[in-house]
Amino acid sequence: MGGNLANSKAESDYMSAVASLGCIACRKMGYEGTPAEIHHIGNRTMGKRSSNYDTIPLCPIHHRTGPDAVHMNKKVFEAQFGTELELLKETVELLKIWRDSFV
Ligand SMILES: [Zn+2]
Ligand SMILES: [Zn+2]
Repeated sequence: MGGNLANSKAESDYMSAVASLGCIACRKMGYEGTPAEIHHIGNRTMGKRSSNYDTIPLCPIHHRTGPDAVHMNKKVFEAQFGTELELLKETVELLKIWRDSFV
């Protein structure tokens, strides 16, 4: 865990909106609304942490614990569900739809 001391309210609102979409990998398999946690995409290299806006929703199995979880076997995960960047784009699209339905 890195220290995220400067999380703004906008960022935490954004992340709870992302989580509320449900797991994006499950969604691709036809299961919508699987409770999700936040995954920060990208390689965190020295001195550069990924932004809280570069996040996608994944359930614990697709995130950490399953055989095709992004943190267990990223190659298998991306072969099945797409690259993190593709999933990020889809997440942003879904958020637009999600937001529109609440405005
Ligand atoms: Zn899932
Ligand atoms: Zn993660």
